[in-house]
Amino acid sequence: MNVIEVQNLRKQYGSTVAVDNISFNVQQGEIFTIVGPNGAGKSTTVESIMGLRQPDQGTIRVLGLDPQKDEHELRQRIGIQLQQAALPERLKVWEALNLYSGFYDKTVPWEKLLNDWGLAEKRNTNFKNLSGGQKQRLFIALALLNDPELVFLDELTTGLDPQARRATWDAVRAIRDQGKTVVLVTHFMDEAEELADRIAIIDQGNIVALDTPQALIQNLHVETRVRFTNTNGYDPQLLRRVNGVTEVEQRGKQVIVQGNGALLAHVATALAEHNVTPTDLRVEQANLEDVFLALTGRSIRN
Ligand code: ADP
Repeated sequence: MNVIEVQNLRKQYGSTVAVDNISFNVQQGEIFTIVGPNGAGKSTTVESIMGLRQPDQGTIRVLGLDPQKDEHELRQRIGIQLQQAALPERLKVWEALNLYSGFYDKTVPWEKLLNDWGLAEKRNTNFKNLSGGQKQRLFIALALLNDPELVFLDELTTGLDPQARRATWDAVRAIRDQGKTVVLVTHFMDEAEELADRIAIIDQGNIVALDTPQALIQNLHVETRVRFTNTNGYDPQLLRRVNGVTEVEQRGKQVIVQGNGALLAHVATALAEHNVTPTDLRVEQANLEDVFLALTGRSIRN
């Protein structure tokens, strides 16, 4: 079942085409991730779906509703993550939950959310004194106050340390495991790869790929890369003769071998024949950064 249906969405600001022509569906119970570089059109797309922006063209249905016409009903049934600036610094955790409960016709008891999201001990703490990870958990709790069927999370882990990031990822999975649909917007490819059931990669106002992370990577047919540190003065160009090898490059002491088939086994055998036994011989798998590069010719970080 489709929870969201977007057809031929277009939005322009003056001469800037923010969203060119975007169509996709989001299925019930999945984590659907919209990923792309800054300025790609992610926020415009998602805010149009939430009814916060009016598209120039296209049709959008969310839970069977029209976000422009049925705004009140939609607001009751979706969860929206607030931006940092939305909460006063001195507001206590419990006060925030209590305040936002008043905005909905129907809510879950916020004491339960305090416990579910590990905030019970922080209930009397001012917002400004929470850690980055605790603030994000509070935003998640606020987004779940109305027991929404569909939850939107936007750049949830920007500025978090690696540990808080991992904890936040677990939290997002927990939301899906409660049977809710999650739309996650991020410019982090690793986050998309980690969390998404399906990913839409957006670039310059268009979807350039939409599939599961595994399928996106497999369909790339990129060559395998094998890497090792060359400490023996071995001439890496000798590896060019090895079965399956298409390219050999040395950067400093690092040798990067590209090719197909059982590359690692073939390279290891060839090195052993020359009495070279690197301790760090390893295969590098393709990832979503490679997918983006292959599709657009650009790195997502630039
Ligand atoms: P993303 O969320 O992927 O960073 P946005 O949807 O915010 O992308 O922006 C897409 C493009 O539209 C960018 O070039 C941005 O500068 C422009 N844009 C977004 N919002 C506005 C606005 N309110 N007025 C003018 N230009 C905008």
